[in-house]
Amino acid sequence: MTSYRPTRITISRSAIVHNIRSIKQYYENQKRPIRYFFAVVKANGYGHGMEQVAQAAEKEVNYFAVATIDEALKLRKCTDLPILVLGPSPVRSIPDAVTHQITLTVPSVDWLSEATREYPKHSLTLHIKLNTGMNRIGLRTASEIEQVFRLLQHTSYDVEGVFTHFARADEEDRTWTDEQVDRFEQLLCQFPERPRIVHVSNSAATLRFPEYVYDGVRYGISLYGLAPSPFVETMLPVSLKKAMTLTTEVALVKTLPPQTQISYGGRYETKHLERIATLPIGYADGLRRQLTGQYVLIKGEKFPLIGTICMDQCMILVNENISVGEIVTLIGIDKGEEISVNDWSNSLNTINYEVCTSFSARISRELS
Ligand code: PLP
Repeated sequence: MTSYRPTRITISRSAIVHNIRSIKQYYENQKRPIRYFFAVVKANGYGHGMEQVAQAAEKEVNYFAVATIDEALKLRKCTDLPILVLGPSPVRSIPDAVTHQITLTVPSVDWLSEATREYPKHSLTLHIKLNTGMNRIGLRTASEIEQVFRLLQHTSYDVEGVFTHFARADEEDRTWTDEQVDRFEQLLCQFPERPRIVHVSNSAATLRFPEYVYDGVRYGISLYGLAPSPFVETMLPVSLKKAMTLTTEVALVKTLPPQTQISYGGRYETKHLERIATLPIGYADGLRRQLTGQYVLIKGEKFPLIGTICMDQCMILVNENISVGEIVTLIGIDKGEEISVNDWSNSLNTINYEVCTSFSARISRELS
C-alpha cells in the first residue's frame, strides 16, 4: 500500500542475507552445520517489518519463529516455510494451527491436558518447551515430562522438537548458561525418544557457544545486524550488518527570532535568529520523548532534536543549507556518518531490542 507520509523504515535485504549466511558459514567451517535455522521474526520482525524480513530471509533459512499464533497466521500469508510459535497459544487456536501448518509450543502440562481433551484427533505439530532457568514457560521436572508423554499417547500429535531458552547467554559469565544446558540434558534423558529438532541457542549463544548448537538455532536480534549485548559485541565471530534505516523528510523550515519558545512546555527557546525544521515523526512512531537532544543526519551533517517531541512531529535546529524535502536519517548511515539503534538505546538507557521493536505500525516498511 502506498504511504504518502515520507517517514519510513527501509530494510536492507543484502544485510539480512549477509547476517544469515555469515553465521551459517562460520558453523560450516567448524564442521557443525546448522541444520535448522529459525529466523525469529516476532514483534513485526523486531520492528523491521515481519513480511519484509521474511521475504528477505526465506531462501536462506528453513524455519520461522514468532511469538504468537496471530503473528504466525499473518506470516503464513507470505511463506510456505514451517512456522513455530514460541509462546503459549490458546488451546482454541489449535484447529487454525493445524489448518495452516503452524507448529505450537507445549508450555505446560495443563496446556497439553486441555489440548488433548479438546482436540485429540488433530494432527498438531509440537515443540516441547523445557524450563531450565528462564522460569517463564516450559516443563521443569521429569514428572512433568512423563505426564506429557502419557497425555500424548492416544493423540495424533507429532512432537517434532524440543527447546529451551537462555536467560543470560549475553553475559560475560557463562556459568548460568552452562547450568541451563546441564538441566536441559537431564530433562532430555527423560524423553522416550529424542525429537527430530533439538534447539537451545538464541543469537548470543549462537555467536558464542558453537558447542550448544544441537540441531538448530533461533537467531533473532543478530539477524537484523545487532549484537545481543555490549559484551557479545566485543567478541563477534562474524561481522554483522545493520538492516534498518529510518528516514523522513523535512516538512517545513522557518527562521524564528530570539527568545521564541518551541513545542509543548516551551522547553526550548531560541537564543538568536534560528532556523528550525519540522519533521513528520513523533513519539507515536517510536521517537520517544526522552530523545530530545539526540541527533539526526541531513546531507551527512548532524542536527539536534530540540524541544518536546510531539506525538506525530518534532523539531530540529538546522542551518541555511537545509530546506523542505531534504532526506533526514534518524537511524542509518548518511555520507559516512552513522546513527545507530544502539545510540538511541544508550540515550534511553535501555536495550537495542526495545528500541527497534518500538517503531509503530504507522511507519511504512520497505525492502531495499
Ligand atoms: N527464542 C526465544 C524463545 C525467544 O524468546 C527469543 C527472543 O526473545 C529468541 C529465541 C531470539 O533471541 P535473540 O533475539 O536474542 O536472538
